[in-house]
Amino acid sequence: MPVFDRVLRSRRIFTPRGVIDGAVAIAGERIAALLTGGDIPADSVDLGDAALLPGLVDSHAHLNEPGRTEWEGFETATRAAAAGGVTTIVDMPLNCIPVTTTLAAFEAKRAAVADHAHVDYAFWGGVVPGNADELGPMIEAGITGAKAFLCHSGIDDFPAATEADLRRAMPILAAAGRPLLVHAELESPGPSTHEDPRHYATYLASRPAGWEVDAVRLCIDLCREFRGPVHIVHLSAADALSLAEGARAEGLPFSLETCPHYLILAAEEIADGRTEYKCAPPIRERENRERLWDGLRRGLIELVVSDHSPCTPALKRPETGDFLSAWGGISTLQLGLPLVWTEAERRGFQLADLPRWMSMAPARLAGLSHKGAIAVGLDADLVVFEPEPSQVVRPEQLHFRHKITPYLGRTLRGRVRETILRGTTIYRGETFPASAHGRLQRPSTRGAHG
Ligand SMILES: [Zn+2]
Repeated sequence: MPVFDRVLRSRRIFTPRGVIDGAVAIAGERIAALLTGGDIPADSVDLGDAALLPGLVDSHAHLNEPGRTEWEGFETATRAAAAGGVTTIVDMPLNCIPVTTTLAAFEAKRAAVADHAHVDYAFWGGVVPGNADELGPMIEAGITGAKAFLCHSGIDDFPAATEADLRRAMPILAAAGRPLLVHAELESPGPSTHEDPRHYATYLASRPAGWEVDAVRLCIDLCREFRGPVHIVHLSAADALSLAEGARAEGLPFSLETCPHYLILAAEEIADGRTEYKCAPPIRERENRERLWDGLRRGLIELVVSDHSPCTPALKRPETGDFLSAWGGISTLQLGLPLVWTEAERRGFQLADLPRWMSMAPARLAGLSHKGAIAVGLDADLVVFEPEPSQVVRPEQLHFRHKITPYLGRTLRGRVRETILRGTTIYRGETFPASAHGRLQRPSTRGAHG
């Protein structure tokens, strides 16, 4: 009998090959075996009816360190991640200072966060005008790919890329098999509005779905021309799904993600002045939301990731409730699993769908082939999840820095009981029993479809 450090027994273990009744055996930091029947040792830990899922990989989060730790920071964000069953985070190249658009900035970020991450982490680089020469060195140093904006990013030190900038970046990324990530809103002049900025409808009208559709079309054209992976972050406009369907039929390495807020919230339900609901692209109408779920059902949307994007409370302009001047970004990090489960179950999805959207596909996008699934040889990153009990979201249970989120007071189904990172319990029953031992991860495989 081989020697294992821990053996976890569950009747519902979610593996890429299906749900099994058995046990996960851990040796050191890895999954050493999947056991069933008489092979399960008598001293294994029985999780009862709790499900055992792979740790979530959140490939879209803004942790804002270094430089804007008054907005968030690795200490608080990775505690929230651990409490939410997220074992790996891929941090966006903004809104930290400096933004991650040079090798020097990448090294500065790596040094700044090294000793206080509670979960594993990796970094996206950024594509901005004039930084193409930095992409090769950043890829060499371990970025998982690079993100560009086609509109103003919200901060002036991360300017929008033009099509010409993307054309310089694409061959470099494609040669390395790393994806270009795009914030897909291509601004076009619309009628200027003088409606009340406290009305959500005023904000929604300022960023029409057509902006997303135009940007997605451009991205698919670039994907076709350069034959490198292109990934659209945080899709909100379901109108773009038919374009994605065409790209899929052509066999292009093109992929889409969406976020819990687009799947759960709806424009019709946002009251005046409630700027905690503001993000870009905007949350759209119920009918659009249901078409996004259909996109997941049809496999056109492959990832559900948080786009956790906090700021200081003042930047949400609570005193005026002005949607146009408030910071756009929603804090979700700790809540993704129960949020998505609650709404997915209501629409007839299975719990087995969540590891595909929230662990496997994001790990694949970031090239982290040792993460994102319960399989022998992979990192022992696990979540013990109780799918049945309900909980109400309370501010005191949230671990991200500012307890501002549209989900306060919401009743969610499912609860994270325990989170395990590389074999060590990092969260259990509202406590964090291990020291912060998250490590920088580098892509080990070529990109999303390479
Ligand atoms: Zn984002």
